[in-house]
Amino acid sequence: MAARLGIVGGGQLGRMLALAAAPLGIRCSFVDPSPEAGARVVADQIEADFENIDALIELSERSDIVTFEFENVSAPALEAIAGRATVAPSPRSLEVSQDRLLEKQLFESLGFPVAPYRAVATLDQLETAIEEIGTPSILKTRRLGYDGKGQVRIGSVDDADHAWKSVESEPSVLEGHVNFSRELSVVIVRAADGSGIAYPLTENVHLAGILHTSKAPIVPEDDPLQLRAVEHAMAIADELGHVGALALELFDVEGELVLNEIAPRVHNSGHWTIDGCRTSQFENHVRAVVGLPLGAIGPVLPTMMVNLVGGLPESAEVLAIPGAHLHLYDKEPRAGRKVGHVNVVELGPGEDSLASRAARVIALADASRH
Ligand code: AMP
Repeated sequence: MAARLGIVGGGQLGRMLALAAAPLGIRCSFVDPSPEAGARVVADQIEADFENIDALIELSERSDIVTFEFENVSAPALEAIAGRATVAPSPRSLEVSQDRLLEKQLFESLGFPVAPYRAVATLDQLETAIEEIGTPSILKTRRLGYDGKGQVRIGSVDDADHAWKSVESEPSVLEGHVNFSRELSVVIVRAADGSGIAYPLTENVHLAGILHTSKAPIVPEDDPLQLRAVEHAMAIADELGHVGALALELFDVEGELVLNEIAPRVHNSGHWTIDGCRTSQFENHVRAVVGLPLGAIGPVLPTMMVNLVGGLPESAEVLAIPGAHLHLYDKEPRAGRKVGHVNVVELGPGEDSLASRAARVIALADASRH
């Protein structure tokens, strides 16, 4: 009998996981407080807060395996689930990826390059850290940061007071500014037996701290940059005993890869794999956590993903662009909110270039923004 999969969170990631699980005969349940959760059309909702222990117990009892669309799961919530269903990814993956300091310490312990940093817990420590690390630098809260939230840029030691207030005196990490030429990420999927597959390195462009576009592949599959990124991500996953998808965000500094952070889950920079790969990150995550064989990735179709943020272009206008595939999340547009994405795939000779067709999608996305 097919496994029953539980998902903590029913936003777009939960929705796309459930969509990928359906053809495998896997029905998903999820916990989410929103009556408009995007996953509700493809999975069974338990409408409750993520910290509602009764709801998490119900989810675990309905499921053989429980997975997550976000990493910020509290220890009591995790305990409620862990006794009743198999949890994937591992509690250690969640614990480390919730905390920027633990993440950096893990990367360093494996010998991988990170930006210079200091842990800071007081204003005094922040001032000392600014002197030691220098400026420009970035203060980031250890916990609960995403899409550029919980971060403040520091230009001089005079900014310390303001910066410390803006992180609300939360335990933080001060990081030196990395002068990168581009931002990259790699998504790998690791099975419980330790085997894994890796997607092509992806180049990411952010706008106002939110992912705007992702493009892949950017190098041949045997390129040293690709091999190194995958080696890093796999070593991290091995160390964590991770099962499922794991995204590693990297800065490319003239060919040197500096590690930024991990997400122990499917990732926005992997959404292109739905149309660009034989098996998407969502399907391979589902396969990994329920114990099915992982699926082949290639041959890969070069793809550019454009996030729809804060506005929805007309579907007909998007789909009139050759090679454009629309993925909507069933969310009301609001400023800064991701409401869908468009994957534009390579079509070969006889059609406009991928770049020019993607530019048309970007223009539609920009025009739709409020
Ligand atoms: P994060 O939440 O760590 O992914 O940071 C959000 C974005 O801020 C990144 O995607 C980068 O564009 C930028 N950023 C974060 N850390 C640094 C850094 N140390 N140096 C330069 N840019 C950074």
